Amino acid sequence: MMNSNRRAIALFGGTFDPVHFGHLRMALELRQALGFDEMRLLPSHQPGHRNRPGVSAVHRRNMLGLALEGCAELQLDERELKRSGPTYTVDTLEELRGELGEEASISFCMGLDSLLTLPSWHRWDRLLQLAHLVVVIRPGWQLPSDGEVADILRRHSGEIRDLHTESRGRLVVREQTLLPISATNIRQLIASGQSPRYLLPAAVLQYIDDHQLYRQAALRGDSNDD
Ligand code: ATP
Repeated sequence: MMNSNRRAIALFGGTFDPVHFGHLRMALELRQALGFDEMRLLPSHQPGHRNRPGVSAVHRRNMLGLALEGCAELQLDERELKRSGPTYTVDTLEELRGELGEEASISFCMGLDSLLTLPSWHRWDRLLQLAHLVVVIRPGWQLPSDGEVADILRRHSGEIRDLHTESRGRLVVREQTLLPISATNIRQLIASGQSPRYLLPAAVLQYIDDHQLYRQAALRGDSNDD
């Protein structure tokens, strides 16, 4: 049963519109602290449970590519961008499970805000049959103590070591400080003519400038058409 050599792959999903140092530090710290063999950033095409992102999939992918240049610890997984139609995490995990095999440990990382919406995700009860969930909470924040999410927490609660000895089915809570950076704030800064420098990699900012991204979009909110 115990297989300490199980390969452990983690996914960190988001719109990355644009990618910033909050995302990058979070992904790197998770990889290091939880001992994953791989940490993949997984940009979503058109998340079912969020408004549409501000710029096209190609721009978001290109910005992630620039942010990850020369970083051996983080990878880019483009599968959701390549799929047409809505992106469901469960489909992504089914596909990955098929590719990586039954033995691999797969962890899907999310913030507490995402965990709280879990019961509304497409086929959410299947997620833990395919992967572990790693939930990041800010220090001092409370997990829900009753309701559906509290039940999931109770039934699946696990430790970091479980991510290496089991292939799926555990929910691990990880307390971690978040840099106070959000993509919404970056889009608003640019739209109002201010600089978001030092909140995101210089190469990403250069790309945004070169392509004149976010100049108007943020003022209209997230729900504008591409
Ligand atoms: P937006 O402001 O458009 O909602 P965002 O900056 O929150 O964007 P997302 O692409 O929605 O970024 O988030 C991707 C993932 O990164 C989510 O799991 C989210 O919880 C996490 N995340 C967002 N901001 C930070 C941050 N400052 N530090 C660590 N993780 C973050």
